[in-house]
Amino acid sequence: MTSLIDKTAKEINKLLLNKEISAKEIVDACYKQIEIVEPKIQALNSSTTNLAYKQAEELDAKIKKGEKLSPIAGVPIVVKDVICIKSYPATCGSKILENFIAPYEATSTNKLWEAGAICIGKSNMDEFAMGSSTENSAFKKTKNPWNLNTVPGGSSGGSAAAVASREVPVSLGTDTGGSVRQPASFCGVVGLKPTYGRVSRFGLIAFASSLDQIGPFARNVYDATLVLQYISGYDSKDSTSLNVEVPNYINKITTTSLKGKKIGLIKELMESGIDSEIKKSIESSVKIFKDLGAEVVEISLPNVKYSVPVYYIIATAEASSNLARYDGVKYGYRTAGAKELLPMYTKTRQEGFGPEVKRRIMLGTYALSSGYYDAYYKKAQQVRKLVAQDFLNSFEKVDLLISPTCPTTAFKFGSKTEDPLSMYISDIATIPANLAGLPAISVPCGFDSKKLPIGLQIIAPSLSEELLLGAAYGFESACKLDITCRSF
Ligand code: GLN
Repeated sequence: MTSLIDKTAKEINKLLLNKEISAKEIVDACYKQIEIVEPKIQALNSSTTNLAYKQAEELDAKIKKGEKLSPIAGVPIVVKDVICIKSYPATCGSKILENFIAPYEATSTNKLWEAGAICIGKSNMDEFAMGSSTENSAFKKTKNPWNLNTVPGGSSGGSAAAVASREVPVSLGTDTGGSVRQPASFCGVVGLKPTYGRVSRFGLIAFASSLDQIGPFARNVYDATLVLQYISGYDSKDSTSLNVEVPNYINKITTTSLKGKKIGLIKELMESGIDSEIKKSIESSVKIFKDLGAEVVEISLPNVKYSVPVYYIIATAEASSNLARYDGVKYGYRTAGAKELLPMYTKTRQEGFGPEVKRRIMLGTYALSSGYYDAYYKKAQQVRKLVAQDFLNSFEKVDLLISPTCPTTAFKFGSKTEDPLSMYISDIATIPANLAGLPAISVPCGFDSKKLPIGLQIIAPSLSEELLLGAAYGFESACKLDITCRSF
C-alpha cells in the first residue's frame, strides 16, 4: 500500500468512498511512511495513533452501514503542536509545555474530525511559533526533505516537512508573520493563510493574538482548499471570529478565470535583498499569469518596508502578555529548585523558555512599559494601519497582488541562528498580509540552481479566498511543476 502515500487528499477520499481501500489501510500507510522517513526528517513531536485508529474504525463502520461521507473523510492530517487535540500533548515546541496534555479540542480540528478527517500526529515547530527555521524547537531539528542540510522554514516547519515527505497529504500550521507560507515555500508545497477571523483560533495556543491564523499545507491547491472549506466559519468561542457565511470554495476554484483580471506585482518586494534566482522565477510566473489572460502591472506599497519592525513590536508586545500565564502554577513545567513563590515563578520561566522566547518577552515588555508605550507600541499600531491602507489603495487598482514568498530559498542549519535580525528578515514578504489581516497563499513556482523550491505569494482582499484560491489553482495548472520530493 505504499503508493497510497503518493496520492492527494482528493484521491484518497475517492478511493475510500469507492470502497477500494479502508480507512484503516490509509492510517497504516501513513504510519508506515512515517516509520521510514521520520528518522531523517523529524517532522513530528508525537503520533496520535490511538485516535487515528479509532477515527478510522468509526469511518469504516459508517461505510459498512452505507452512510454518506464528506469529501474530506479518510484524509489523514498532521496538526502543528500549538493546536489543542483533546487528551493529547500540545507542547508548542517548548520545554515549559513538554508534559502538557490539552484538556479540550480546538474548533478547527473538531470540525475536521466531525467531517471524517483522521488525526495522525502533532508536528514540530519553533518554540511558541517564534522563528523562521524550526531551529527554535526545544525538541528536535526538522529537516527540509529537499536537502537534509537545510531548514524546513518555520515556525510550522514540521507541518510543511510532513507534507513534502509524504507522511500525510495535508497538515495544519499557524501563520502569525508567515509561518505557513514561508515553510511552504522552503519545502515546495502549498501554504495558505486565511483572512484574519475566517478560521477560529479557539484551541490555538496564542502567540500574537491579533495576527495568529490557522492555515493548511498541501501538495496542491485543491487539497488546501478542501481543508480550508472544513475549518472555516464563525465560532462564538473566538471573539475575533468573523460571522460571515463560508462560500463553497471547492466548487469555485475550478471556475475562476484569470481572463481580464488585473494583478499587481509588489515593487518593494522585488527590490534589494531578494535572490536573483527568485526574482527570475517570479518573472516567469508573471508570464504565466499573462498567458492566462491577466494583466500584470507593477504596483508600489510604500509602507510595506516598515512591516518587519512594526511586526516585531506588535507581535512581541502581544507575546509578552500571552506568555505571562506560564508561571509554573496553572500548567506545564515547574522548577524543582525554588521554595518560595517569586523564585518559583522566575526560575520556572528561566528554565522553561528558550532564548528566542525570552528575547521576545523582553522586547515586548519593554515596548509596553510606561514611558515607551507611546513611542513604540502606539506608533507601531499607527504604522500597521498605514500598511493596511496601502493594501486597500492597491486593491482599488488591481484584483490581486503577487510577490516572492521569501527573499531566499531554504538556508543551511545554523546559518542565521547567531543573528536574529537576519532571521527576522526572511519574513519580509509575508508579514504585510498578517498586519493587514489579508488572505495570502504560497504556491510552488520553480526551483533554484541548488534544486531548492521557490514559492510565489498571492495576496487577495479580505475574505476573497475564492478569488485567491481560484488564481492559485489556475496558476498551478498552467505552471505544471513537478513538486514530488524524492531526494531523501
Ligand atoms: N517568523 C516569524 C516570527 O518569528 C513569524 C512566525 C509565525 O508566523 N508564527 O515571528
